[in-house]
Amino acid sequence: MYSIHATILQKLPSACPLCGLTARGGNLCSGCAQDFVWRLNGLQSCVRCLNPVPKQTTLETQATAEDTPQAAQCSRCWRDAPPYARLVAAMDYAYPTAMLIQRFKEGARLAYAGLFARVLWTRLRTQLPGDVGLLPLGALVPIPSSQQALRRRGFNPAGELALELARLSGYPLQREWLRRTRETPSQKVLDSAARRESVKGLYVCPHALPRVWVGLVDDVVTTGSTMHTAARALLNAGAAGVVALAAAHTPVRLVR
Ligand SMILES: [Zn+2]
Ligand SMILES: [Zn+2]
Repeated sequence: MYSIHATILQKLPSACPLCGLTARGGNLCSGCAQDFVWRLNGLQSCVRCLNPVPKQTTLETQATAEDTPQAAQCSRCWRDAPPYARLVAAMDYAYPTAMLIQRFKEGARLAYAGLFARVLWTRLRTQLPGDVGLLPLGALVPIPSSQQALRRRGFNPAGELALELARLSGYPLQREWLRRTRETPSQKVLDSAARRESVKGLYVCPHALPRVWVGLVDDVVTTGSTMHTAARALLNAGAAGVVALAAAHTPVRLVR
């Protein structure tokens, strides 16, 4: 939980990291938050993978009374469900919010981890339906960085985000629940089939897990193949289920 000190910091004036206008506590100003952070709320997006779904054509809705666009899965998730029950992202990996992610990861603006975590925590509480028992999560597990990335940046962006989210939510942080089995080439240059192949068996859980729901944390979700592999490792070790959490998600139309 945030301390009184942190609560006071949240009220202090600061410059909006996107537009430079007055904001508070290192957050986006209300205009930018409305325009860029909450944008997905207004779109028809798959509740499970967050990819945009064309209205009515490929959308297959669940036969529930509270059927809304937000409660629907895309046809791809119906056919071949990802190993995580939900993907929740703070923002789109698109202009201009992608700049925040780049400054965070490559410019070491570690304070942005707090900004992403606050948006993510609000989303978690407002978007995860309480009746399916996903909350509270039993653990937060960051996806480990490669040694090469760790040496270059000096920190693991997913680890910083998970730490801030753990502070906010009170959920226990479990850094040791996932380990990398090997080093891999950078994902950026690979297409989605090559990405899937390169991350196969990349993560293991070193011991049996308690039967709890795990929040699996990464900085950016692009094709989802890293999340898939890591979620499978947690489920194989005994986790009850996985919710994928990310600072940003690349909508499928932007995946090259
Ligand atoms: Zn702004
Ligand atoms: Zn989907």
